[in-house]
Amino acid sequence: MTEYSLNDPDISSIDYVKFRHDLTEFMVANCPQALRDKVFSNQKIGRTEFAEWQKILHTKGWSAPNWPIEEGGTGWDLRQRYLFEEVSAELDCPPLYHHGLGHIGPVIMHFGTPEQKARFLPRILDGTEWWCQGYSEPGAGSDLASLRTSAVLEGDEYVIKGQKIWTSHAHEADMMYTLVRTSTEGRKQAGITLLLVPVNAPGIVVKPIRTIDQWHHVNEVFLTDVRVPVLNRISEEGGGWACAKFLLDRERLSPAMVPRLLRQLQQVETLIRSKVKESGATPTLLSAISRLLNAKASAMGAKEMLMSAITEEMSGTLRSSKSSALKLHCTELSQQISSLAYDLVAPHYATRLIPSTPDAEGSDDLDIERQLLHTYLFYRSRTIAGGTSEVQKNVIARDIFGV
Ligand SMILES: Cc1cc2nc3c(=O)[nH]c(=O)nc-3n(C[C@H](O)[C@H](O)[C@H](O)COP(=O)(O)OP(=O)(O)OC[C@H]3O[C@@H](n4cnc5c(N)ncnc54)[C@H](O)[C@@H]3O)c2cc1C
Repeated sequence: MTEYSLNDPDISSIDYVKFRHDLTEFMVANCPQALRDKVFSNQKIGRTEFAEWQKILHTKGWSAPNWPIEEGGTGWDLRQRYLFEEVSAELDCPPLYHHGLGHIGPVIMHFGTPEQKARFLPRILDGTEWWCQGYSEPGAGSDLASLRTSAVLEGDEYVIKGQKIWTSHAHEADMMYTLVRTSTEGRKQAGITLLLVPVNAPGIVVKPIRTIDQWHHVNEVFLTDVRVPVLNRISEEGGGWACAKFLLDRERLSPAMVPRLLRQLQQVETLIRSKVKESGATPTLLSAISRLLNAKASAMGAKEMLMSAITEEMSGTLRSSKSSALKLHCTELSQQISSLAYDLVAPHYATRLIPSTPDAEGSDDLDIERQLLHTYLFYRSRTIAGGTSEVQKNVIARDIFGV
C-alpha cells in the first residue's frame, strides 16, 4: 500500500504532524465530554449539539475549515481538513453541520453581492443562523432540473408556490436555500433560480416525515405565496443551476467521508471483542469477525482512495468519477458495517426497536447497542441522500466510458 507522507514537500511546507498534534490537544481540552459521549454512543444530535461545538470552534477561529481566511475561515488545505475530520472522528467530536458552512456559505462567497456576504456569512460562521437545503421535490430528486416550485417576480419580491421534500433539519432551520423555477422557456436548467428564504416566512409549513429509524431528520416544506425580497436572490434570475453546479464541483470531495467510517469500525470491533469475551468464539462470532476483516480491508481501500483523491484535487487533476466512486464505496461500506452491528445485537433488541409510540425526536437514554440499531436503520438512507448509488454509477460510467 502506498504510504502518503503527510509532509510531502512537493505539495506543501505545512508541518502536518504538528498540526495534527495541535488539533488533538485543542479538541481533547475543549470538546465537552457530554457531547463526545453522545457522539460515541450514536445518539441523535441536532442543532443544539452541532451549534454548541461550532461556537467553541468559532472562538478558536476553526469553525469553517473550508473557508478562506478573508471570510473568517481557516484557510486550511485539503490535507489539513482531512486531519481535522480524522482527529474529530477519533475523539467523537460532533461533525460540522454542512448546510451553512459547507454548502450555501461558499456559494454566497462566490456569487453573492457584498451586501449578501455581509448579511449572511458572519451568522453562518458563528452558528447563529441555521440553514437547510430546499432542492428535492416530489418528482424531482435525481432529476433535479425537473423541479416545479415556481417563483414569480412582483415588484421587488418573488412570490413562491410549491413543495419541497426530504428537507433535512428544516424544522430546526432559520433559512432555506432553495431552487425555484422562474421560467419554463428553453432548457429546464436555464429557468432555475436560487433564492434564500426565511423558514418562518408567512406561507411556509414544515411537516415532519417519519422515517424508519423513528427519528425526525427530514421534512416536507410547503410554500404557499411565500414572499421574499429580490435581494435574497443569489446571482441573476436563471442562474440557479450554475450555483448548484458550483457547489457540486467544489464539495464533491468530502474529507469527512472516511474518518467516521473508521471510527464506526472500531466500535464494532470493540463490540465483537466484548461478545467473544462473554461467550467465546461461537460460529456466529467467527462469521462476524470475518465480515469485520473484510470491512476493514474495504475501509483501508477507501482511505487510500481518499488520500490519492486529495492529492489529485490539490494539484487540480481530480476526476469527477473518483469522488463519485468514493461516495458510492463509503456509503455502501457504512451500510455493511451497520448491518454487521445490527446482526450482533439484533437477537436482544430487534423486538423492542420500534416503539409503539414513535419517539420521533430521538431519546437520549438509549443504550449503545440499541443506538447501533437506529444507526443501521438510518444508514439505509446513505445510498440515497446526496445522490443515489445509481446516479453515482452513471457519473462513473460517463467519465470512464463516455456513455
Ligand atoms: C435522509 C435523506 C436526507 C435528504 N436531505 C435532503 C435535503 O436536505 N435537501 C434536499 O433537497 N434533498 C434531500 N434529500 C433528497 C435526496 O437528494 C433525494 O432523495 C435523492 O436525490 C433521490 O431522489 P428521489 O428520492 O426523488 O428518488 P428518484 O430520483 O425518484 O429515484 C428513484 C430510484 O430511481 C433511481 N434512478 C433515478 N434516476 C436514475 C437514472 N438516471 N439512472 C439510474 N437510476 C436512476 C434512483 O437511483 C432510485 O433508486 C434527502 C434524502 C434522504 C434520504
